[in-house]
Amino acid sequence: MSRKSTVMKRCQKCGQEKSLSDFHRNRTKSDGHNGICSSCQAEVNRK
Ligand SMILES: [Zn+2]
Repeated sequence: MSRKSTVMKRCQKCGQEKSLSDFHRNRTKSDGHNGICSSCQAEVNRK
């Protein structure tokens, strides 16, 4: 059995672990991605 080496990251808003591709890139962040996932980000942007 081989596993994909997908990098996971926990969203600081919904608390779910998602792959890095589910986070918007943000070069100002230490790991190069936002702390919240793109779906949470979309909700923040609506307000
Ligand atoms: Zn989220």
